[in-house]
Amino acid sequence: MRSIIMGPPGAGKGTQARFVSERFGIPAISTGDIFRANVSQGTPLGVEAKRYMDAGDYVPDSITNDMVRHRLAEPDCASGFLLDGYPRTLAQVEVLDDILAESSTALDAVLSLVVDRDEVVTRLLQRARTEGRSDDTEEVIRHRQELYAEQTAPLIDAYKQRGLVVEVDGLGEVGEVAERIAAALSDL
Ligand code: ADP
Repeated sequence: MRSIIMGPPGAGKGTQARFVSERFGIPAISTGDIFRANVSQGTPLGVEAKRYMDAGDYVPDSITNDMVRHRLAEPDCASGFLLDGYPRTLAQVEVLDDILAESSTALDAVLSLVVDRDEVVTRLLQRARTEGRSDDTEEVIRHRQELYAEQTAPLIDAYKQRGLVVEVDGLGEVGEVAERIAAALSDL
């Protein structure tokens, strides 16, 4: 299964991606996690990415696309993957199409986690208190939500036109949401 999980910042993509990864035996690839790992290791990629991430801006497509291209070429992605946090722009959608076409593969599903805007802001502010992510301040959170609405939400419509989108209600207990997702993916 080659798939993407989409939803606004705070929708619970990372948490749910880990469940899907375990249940379906495919790697969950989070571009945010890869960037954060590079930031904490102080790699050149991390130094570059941090400037954008701390402001809540998107890391430039050229950097992000290369990183994803390399990750998807790893052997563990051969039989499937779940992308979390990528693609986020229409240009990234096109690059992902190219990457998949090069290996004569295609996407099977785009999982859209549907959540209420106020609820996600509350969750992010909560996470700011417990995890201390440098991009979880109120101002940066608001900026990330705006960028998402402007640049990333339209991708869901683009994938809807391809008939790939599976919508799942993201409100409720983590375990309940995980069951909804598993049921939706098993029905494919
Ligand atoms: P969230 O979904 O809560 O915004 P992520 O961990 O997915 O958190 O992403 C954190 C940050 O990493 C983003 O705000 C952005 O700066 C950067 N990032 C992650 N994925 C991408 C991407 N596909 N394109 C550009 N920037 C990205």
